[in-house]
Amino acid sequence: MFTHTPVDSIDFNGCRVFVKRDDLLHKDFSGNKARKFAYFLHNDFPGITRLVGYGSPVANSLYSMSALAKLKGWKLDFYTDHIAAQVLASSKGNYAAAVENGANVIDLSLVADRKGRGCKEYIEQDVLPNDSKALFVPEGGRCLYAREGVHQLAKEIVNWFASSQLDELTVFLPSGTGTTAVFLNEYFVLNNNNIKVMTCACVGDEDYLNQQFSELINDTSFHPEIISTAKKYHFGKLYKIFYDIWRKVGEQGIEFELLYDPKGWMCVEQYLSEYPDAAIIYIHQGGLLGNETMLPRYQRKYTAVL
Ligand SMILES: *Cc1c(COP(=O)(O)O)cnc(C)c1O
Repeated sequence: MFTHTPVDSIDFNGCRVFVKRDDLLHKDFSGNKARKFAYFLHNDFPGITRLVGYGSPVANSLYSMSALAKLKGWKLDFYTDHIAAQVLASSKGNYAAAVENGANVIDLSLVADRKGRGCKEYIEQDVLPNDSKALFVPEGGRCLYAREGVHQLAKEIVNWFASSQLDELTVFLPSGTGTTAVFLNEYFVLNNNNIKVMTCACVGDEDYLNQQFSELINDTSFHPEIISTAKKYHFGKLYKIFYDIWRKVGEQGIEFELLYDPKGWMCVEQYLSEYPDAAIIYIHQGGLLGNETMLPRYQRKYTAVL
C-alpha cells in the first residue's frame, strides 16, 4: 500500500518530460510527505498514542501528519508560531482539512509559558519530557526515518528506468528541506549510476540547501546537483511568472502545486533549453490541497491580468 505510482509523460515546450505521479499515492495520504512518513506508517510503535509536530499552519506537512495520525489511530498535536485570521476562517486548504482530520493545532503565540522559545525548543523542553506516549517528527519530515520511504520511491524509478530503454535519466524535483532529493540521489549513487538527481532550492538559497543535505548525509558525493535561477524568489510569495508556468504545465492535463512546482518547472525549462534531448522524470510531490488557498491569493493579486 502507498507505493508504486504510475509514470505519465507531458509535452513541455516541445520536449517530452516524464512525470512520476506521487500525487496519486493514495487519496488521503499522498505526495512527498507520504513517502517521507512511510516509515511511521509501516512500523509499529507500541505505547504511542500521539504524534507531535510543528511548522507552518498552511503546510502540506500539517495535513499529511493529520492523515498519518488518522490512519494510525493517533492524536496529532501540531505546534505553530501563529495562525493568521484568514487561515482560521477558511474552510479550504491544508489547515481546514487537517482540523477536519482531528488535528489539534496549537498557536504558540497564545501559550502563556512560551518564554520566547520557538516551537522545536518548546516541544523538546516542555512537551516531550512529560509524555512518554508521544512520537515527535521534525519539521517537514527532515529526519533519517524519511530514508525508507524515499528509497522505495527510488526503487520504483530504477524499475521503471530498466523497462524504459533509456540510457540515462535525470530525476528532477524541487526541494524544501532537501530530504527527498538527497536520499533519492544517495540510492542512485549506490545502485544505479545512470540515474542522477537534480533539484532547486525553494526555501532559502543554494547554500542553505547544501547545508541541509550535509546534515543528513555528510559525504558530498551523495548530494544532488542544484540548479539555480538567475533571479531570487522568496518561498510563499506570489510571482506572476510562477503562475504563468504553473498554468502552462497544467494545460498538459496534470495539475501541479503552487509553492514548489513553479520554480521546479522554471529550472526544468532552463535545463531543457540547454539540453533539449535530456530524459527527465519530474517527481509530482502532491500538495494540491494547498492550491485551494494559493489560487485565490493569486487571483486577488492579479485580478486584472489573469
Ligand atoms: C514538502 C514538499 C516538498 C519539499 O520536500 P523536501 O523533502 O523537504 O525537500 C516539495 N514539494 C511538495 C509538494 C511538498 O509537500
